[in-house]
Amino acid sequence: MILGAGFAGMCMAIKLKEAGFHNFVILERDKDLGGTWLANSYPGAACDVQSHLYSYSFEPKPDWSRMFGPQQEIWEYMAHCARKYGLYPHFQFETAVNGATFNEQSGKWTVNTNKGDYTAAVFVSCSGGLSQPAMPDIKGLQDFKGKLFHSARWDHSYDLKDKTVAVIGTGASAIQIVPTIAPAVKQLFLYQRTPAWILPKPDRAMKGFEKKMFSAMPFMQRLLRGMLYWRNELFAIGFVSKPGIMKLAQKMATRHINAVIKDETLRKKVTPAYKVGCKRILLSNEYYQAITRTNVEVITDGIKEVTADGIVTATGEERKMDAIILATGFHAADGVVPFAIKGTNGLDLNEAWRNGAEAYLGTSVSGFPNLFLIVGPNTGLGHSSMILMIEAQVHYAMEAIRQMKLNKWKAVDVKPEVQKSYNADIQEQLSHTIWQTGGCVSWYQDRNGKNVTLWPGHTFTFMKRTKNFEPDKYILAK
Ligand SMILES: Cc1cc2nc3c(=O)[nH]c(=O)nc-3n(C[C@H](O)[C@H](O)[C@H](O)COP(=O)(O)OP(=O)(O)OC[C@H]3O[C@@H](n4cnc5c(N)ncnc54)[C@H](O)[C@@H]3O)c2cc1C
Repeated sequence: MILGAGFAGMCMAIKLKEAGFHNFVILERDKDLGGTWLANSYPGAACDVQSHLYSYSFEPKPDWSRMFGPQQEIWEYMAHCARKYGLYPHFQFETAVNGATFNEQSGKWTVNTNKGDYTAAVFVSCSGGLSQPAMPDIKGLQDFKGKLFHSARWDHSYDLKDKTVAVIGTGASAIQIVPTIAPAVKQLFLYQRTPAWILPKPDRAMKGFEKKMFSAMPFMQRLLRGMLYWRNELFAIGFVSKPGIMKLAQKMATRHINAVIKDETLRKKVTPAYKVGCKRILLSNEYYQAITRTNVEVITDGIKEVTADGIVTATGEERKMDAIILATGFHAADGVVPFAIKGTNGLDLNEAWRNGAEAYLGTSVSGFPNLFLIVGPNTGLGHSSMILMIEAQVHYAMEAIRQMKLNKWKAVDVKPEVQKSYNADIQEQLSHTIWQTGGCVSWYQDRNGKNVTLWPGHTFTFMKRTKNFEPDKYILAK
């Protein structure tokens, strides 16, 4: 049984079918496939890793319209994969998982949903690292009488044209939304808590001859994918082992600000006080231009409260608006498995994770046999495509499932000492990275400051570690 119809759940389903397993369902709370790329349909939504790399390795798309494909095109690519690999009969849409319990006698999971219970020998949770929108804790937010929505729940029926609009947040979503809506709205108030470092986006339309060439000569597309892969891996060196390299990126980002923004006060407002790389580096060619428009105001005073028709800042100044857009991101560090999940001896996953989420290879959690998490703890990336990590984790889960079938194991449960030493090692490696030493608080960290989201290294290291399922690391039950 698979939870989630995003890139991870679909990849798992494709690989199950390829291995001859057809008896499974994909439980999805939404009414369609896509996950991230269904939920985030806000104006300007696009990937920030090149599409030729941000796509399955086994399903190249030769005709991406741009270097960084827009949301609708990514969603259509996913729908194409679902059709081609015969996933539609497996989807159970509008089926929200409320909880899951492992039965030690039967060695099976019972998964409770709004449509009843499902039972399965193996439960693969692909609930997404960025699928639970974070609502800000602002006094009076619920009293606002105008239009209010989160960027991941965009209300397309609401026309922003000639409206006065507030955007709260200046992270990855906001920097795509602001340039797209700024020309249409009457006035845009942009509420910023912490600015992001933003580098120019090396985006462009793909040329007709390139699309034809990739179609006729697939190895040329593999060559491009390989070049993009290794270029991105170079960045990992800066994040992980040689933070000094990031000085160059910081110079480029500062030059980017100074080239576009002439006003000294605005320059100061958008220049971060932490080192580049500590928070996610963003890419845009339009954001700084947008915030220099006369109808855009960047407000850094801090929000005191929301009233029925506006926002009051800490200075006591009230601005009135028709709509508030919450570009406030997601519950990342605490949202890996956002429902009650009970393993052996009734062990609750939230209880097991009270000191921070931990897994072995981001995939197996001790005390939770036959459960595989895709995009689990410490599998996120700051430098490249998440699909690389997803494919590696799916490969690992498939190896486990193959061996379970072959050896007639009823249950596989990672040994607690294996998980413990693996995580001690991960945290030790993370302690030297720019994410921990760069002088910022970010969504990579949980409430205790522990980084439970990122993989501290190259993707090829993770791929190597997930290549084989090692039974000696697991408690095996026949
Ligand atoms: C705006 C945005 C842009 C991004 N851009 C990039 C990028 O450029 N490059 C990159 O590498 N990564 C990017 N990411 C990260 C992105 O989330 C991953 O790349 C990838 O899409 C994750 O796939 P997934 O299947 O793990 O999760 P998701 O796509 O989030 O899918 C999870 C699915 O699980 C479902 N679900 C969750 N809980 C339940 C439940 N209880 N019951 C039933 N169903 C449930 C959700 O509805 C969702 O469909 C971006 C993320 C966001 C939000």
